[in-house]
Amino acid sequence: MAFLSKLINTSRLSRVLLIRILLFSGLFTVTITAVQLSLNYQNEIEELQKKSKQRVNSSSGHLTRSTWELDTQQVILIAGDLFQSGLFKSITVKGKDGFTIVFLGEKDIKAQGWRQPLIFGFRGRFTTVGAIEVKIDIDPIKQKIMDEFIIILISQFIKTFFVSIFILFIIHNLVIRHLNEISNWLNSFKPESSFSPLALETDKGSDSEMVKLKSAISEMGQQVHKHTIGLEKAVAERTAELEKLAYTDSLTGIANRNAFFQASNEELSRSRRLSYDIGVMMLDLDHFKAINDTYGHDAGDEVLKQVSKAMSNCLRKEDTLGRIGGEEFAIITPGADKGGMHKLASRLQQSIALLNFPFLPEDKNITVSIGYTKISNDENFKAALKRADVHLYTAKASGRNTFITDKGFVPSIVN
Ligand code: GH3
Ligand code: MG
Ligand code: MG
Repeated sequence: MAFLSKLINTSRLSRVLLIRILLFSGLFTVTITAVQLSLNYQNEIEELQKKSKQRVNSSSGHLTRSTWELDTQQVILIAGDLFQSGLFKSITVKGKDGFTIVFLGEKDIKAQGWRQPLIFGFRGRFTTVGAIEVKIDIDPIKQKIMDEFIIILISQFIKTFFVSIFILFIIHNLVIRHLNEISNWLNSFKPESSFSPLALETDKGSDSEMVKLKSAISEMGQQVHKHTIGLEKAVAERTAELEKLAYTDSLTGIANRNAFFQASNEELSRSRRLSYDIGVMMLDLDHFKAINDTYGHDAGDEVLKQVSKAMSNCLRKEDTLGRIGGEEFAIITPGADKGGMHKLASRLQQSIALLNFPFLPEDKNITVSIGYTKISNDENFKAALKRADVHLYTAKASGRNTFITDKGFVPSIVN
C-alpha cells in the first residue's frame, strides 16, 4: 500500500491510468451485469409464474368441487394451503356471481397475477362455478437479483482494483520509472556545467526500448554539452582576440590610443581613491620623418617597434605605455615623484639612444624629446597631458634630445 500511495502521489500518469481503468471497468461491469441479471430476472419470473400456475392447477379440481358445493370451510382451507406455499401475494376465490368467498393476502397491491375460472364438469356438462384470482410475489426475486448485482459489482471492483495495481506496477517498472528518471535528469541538465551521464541499467532489462531511449538522450546530452563548451571556448577566445585587436597597436604591440586613455582614466580614479600621485609623460622621436625619407618606411617601422620595446623594458609593471600618434608615445606612472620621473626620462633616452639599426651610420642614433608633469589633484587627465605636450614642444624648441618638466618639479631643462 505504501508503494501504491507513493506511485499515485508522484506519478500523474499512474494516477490517471488507475482512475481510468477503474472507471472504464466499472462502467463495463455495470452494463454487462445489468444485461445478464435482467435476463435472469425474466427467467426467474417465468419460472415463478409456471410454478404458481402448476400449484393452482394441482388444487383447482378440489377447489372447484368445494366452490360448487358451497363448502366455504373447505375453500378457505384449500386457499390457505395455496397461500402457505409462499408463491402468492394474494389469493381471491370468487363464487359464481362474482362474490368473494375467501380473500388472503395484501389488498390493493400492484403485482403480476392472473385469473383462472373454476369449471365444474359433470356427465359431459361443464359449468363455471367461480374463479380464482392470484397475484404472485416477485419481491424475493427482486431482492435476490439486487443482492447478486451488488455482490458482482463489489467483487468485480475489488478484482479490477488489484489487477489495475498489478498492471500499474508493471507499467511503472517498465516505463514510468524510466520516464521520471529522464525528466529529472533533463531538469537538472545544464549544457554549460559539468556533464554527468543519465544512469543506465546494465542488468537484464538493459536492451529494453526505455533503456535505449535513455542511452540516446544521454548521448545527445553529452553532444550538446561538448558543443556548448566548445562554443563557449571559441567565443571567449574570439572575444579576447577582438579585445586585443581593439586595444593593441598592431605595429608595436603596445596599448593603442584608446587603450591608453582608458587605462589612464582608470589609474587616475584609483590614485584619487587611494591618494597617490600620478606622473604623465609625452615622448616624440626626433626627426623621424627623415628616417622614413632616408631609409624607407619599413626602416621607420622597425625603429618604432624597437623603440617601443626598449621603452617597455624601462617601465615597471604598474606603468602604462601607449602609442598615441605616429611616432608619439605617452606614459603614465603611478606613484611618481620628482626623482623617479627624472630618472625614468633619462633611462628612456639612454635606452633609445643605445638601440642599434643596421641601416643607421655608426655615429647616428635615435633620439627622443620628452615632456612630463604630475597630475594635480583637481585636474583631469587631458589637461595634464596637454601640459606634458607643451613641455615636449619646449623640448623640441630647445634643440631636441632632452626632457622638460614643470618649474619646481625638477630643473626645467636637463641635458
Ligand atoms: P620632430 O623632431 O619635430 O618631431 O620631427 P619629425 O620628423 O619627427 O616630425 P613630423 O611630425 O614632421 O614627422 C612624423 C613622421 O612620422 C611623419 C610620418 O610619416 C611618420 N610616421 C607616422 N606614423 C608612422 C608609421 O607608422 N610608420 C612609419 N614608418 N612612419 C610613420
Ligand atoms: Mg617627431
Ligand atoms: Mg610627431
